[in-house]
Amino acid sequence: MTATDVFIGLGSNQADPSAQLAGAVARLAALSETELVAQSPFYRSKPVGPQDQPDFVNGAAWLRTELSALELLDQLQAIEQAHGRERIQHWGPRTLDLDLLLYGNETIASERLTVPHAELANRDFVLQPLLDLEPGLALPDGRTIAQLRQQCPDNNLQKLNPVERAPFPPG
Ligand code: ATP
Ligand code: CA
Ligand code: CA
Repeated sequence: MTATDVFIGLGSNQADPSAQLAGAVARLAALSETELVAQSPFYRSKPVGPQDQPDFVNGAAWLRTELSALELLDQLQAIEQAHGRERIQHWGPRTLDLDLLLYGNETIASERLTVPHAELANRDFVLQPLLDLEPGLALPDGRTIAQLRQQCPDNNLQKLNPVERAPFPPG
């Protein structure tokens, strides 16, 4: 079976978010039948939905895998669980969120999986890390990530230097 290039979105706003993301990238790299091609810089972003929660740290990982999209989703959810994720409130705080953003050039619409990720075009904290990883990246329908980034609402994304990846001060 041939390997497929996939892009994973990572987010956290609990329990040292940058460390959560770094740990998640290590777990992704260790998945069977999968290699890590590259990881993006991390960004600080305002929460989607409820605003009474800490800022998020977001990034993206580029993988090359022989896992199917559903096998990969199972693995992403297992990693979320290993990071202590609890589903309490929709779009609420979480220790780790792993979204399957792109799976090769495939369009998937099933009960468990929508690919490309449904909100990808509306989120600068998703588009910018994808651009960092691969400036020429495009969706299956041909729209480029660069075009989408230009049209996306600006949510005051802040790039984090590696030295700034410490836990955020409260508030
Ligand atoms: P959003 O999808 O708006 O980013 P969320 O990440 O908070 O919201 P979750 O609670 O993490 O949503 O996931 C809810 C469900 O979304 C999952 O159980 C999963 O089956 C489904 N899902 C559909 N498409 C995807 C995808 N591309 N990546 C990850 N999960 C997906
Ligand atoms: Ca998400
Ligand atoms: Ca998710």
